[in-house]
Amino acid sequence: MGHVNLNNTTKRYDDVVAVDEINIEIEDGEFLCLVGPSGCGKSTTLEMVSGLTLPSSGTVEIAGEDVTNEPPKDRDISMVFQNIALFPHMDVDENISFGLRLRDFDKEEIDRRVEKAAKTVQLQGMLDRSPSELSGGQQQRVGIARAIVREPEVFLMDEPLANLDAKLRVHMRTEIQRLQKNLGITTVYVTHDQEEAMTMADRIAIINKGTLQQCAPPLECYNQPVNEFVASFIGSPSMNIFDGTMSEEAIDLEHFRLQHALGADHDGTDVRVGIRPEDVYLVGSEDEPATSSASFEAVVDVLEPVGDQTYAYLVPVTASSDDPELMGKDASELLVTIDPDTDIDEDETVEVILDRDKVHLFDGATGDAIAHSLVEQIAMETEADSSEEIRSD
Ligand code: ADP
Repeated sequence: MGHVNLNNTTKRYDDVVAVDEINIEIEDGEFLCLVGPSGCGKSTTLEMVSGLTLPSSGTVEIAGEDVTNEPPKDRDISMVFQNIALFPHMDVDENISFGLRLRDFDKEEIDRRVEKAAKTVQLQGMLDRSPSELSGGQQQRVGIARAIVREPEVFLMDEPLANLDAKLRVHMRTEIQRLQKNLGITTVYVTHDQEEAMTMADRIAIINKGTLQQCAPPLECYNQPVNEFVASFIGSPSMNIFDGTMSEEAIDLEHFRLQHALGADHDGTDVRVGIRPEDVYLVGSEDEPATSSASFEAVVDVLEPVGDQTYAYLVPVTASSDDPELMGKDASELLVTIDPDTDIDEDETVEVILDRDKVHLFDGATGDAIAHSLVEQIAMETEADSSEEIRSD
């Protein structure tokens, strides 16, 4: 069974800790995405699963076997990279079957597997073409077919779609997902693109500076981010985040105040307050939430129509101040997604409310999540506790 375990797996290069004691248990047949900003340690983690890089400490298990020091050829894995590197002088058939021929499989078995793999990635009828006669997407499919014919326990993919144009990338995402589900092969997939990770994976492992932040299903990371880093990395456009100070019943932000029902535990705590653009509303819009905050005024700075919605960048106005210095693009700009038919213009003043049930609170010092709603005390504590459990996994 193709489960993969990383146990305190660490990679150090002199004084750089590329991957710092990562623990992940990937189930048999699971699709796990490693995601994070460039240089966070995703590829190094994948390379330690493949055997291309050996860990400095910790272990790697594949299918119940400790393979920490095994070379790649002795691990039951297939890899797909960003650069497909097909052999230009071989046709599609020869490219797909290369690994099997190298391992002396008999001709009949090779033909059977190539035919099956070509059918799976829809390359039938193209087996005698040379790579130069294929489009980028078709070449990538040859790369995937070459990985499939090995019939491995585990697929390892490192940004396999990064070189494709945007439309083809979205199409190939669906193809890889469908293929992975049909074949049921455990897959570890590296991407820096949070949207790709969100749409493809059963679970995403978010890494920052070599450290695993959260490993959970995509929507859990979106709705219950364990810390401010995950909150702002997952979701597009990004979550709005402001500084605030908590008192017993409210949180004071630079331009407005939010009532909370979290109790007095965090009285005086400096917090970071997060709210996603879709959880902010203009007063009077049809879908105003039942758990809305008090309204406050904001000036529309910029409107960006993107088709099915419009991004409105608002500058909250301090009720007691007419100070024009507070206007303009500053750190407290609030991004709101609104219906494209909404009748507002740039420079207009609008009334805004937030959904208090969707406000995230993070500790101002550590960035760790305190709550994912301001509405109910008990629900908050439960969520904060379960976030802790995820972190210590
Ligand atoms: P990602 O895939 O997330 O972009 P990497 O895993 O490639 O990140 O790199 C993680 C960190 O390790 C980076 O700081 C990178 O510079 C460092 N690193 C990676 N490979 C080496 C190496 N061979 N020698 C020294 N430092 C390395």
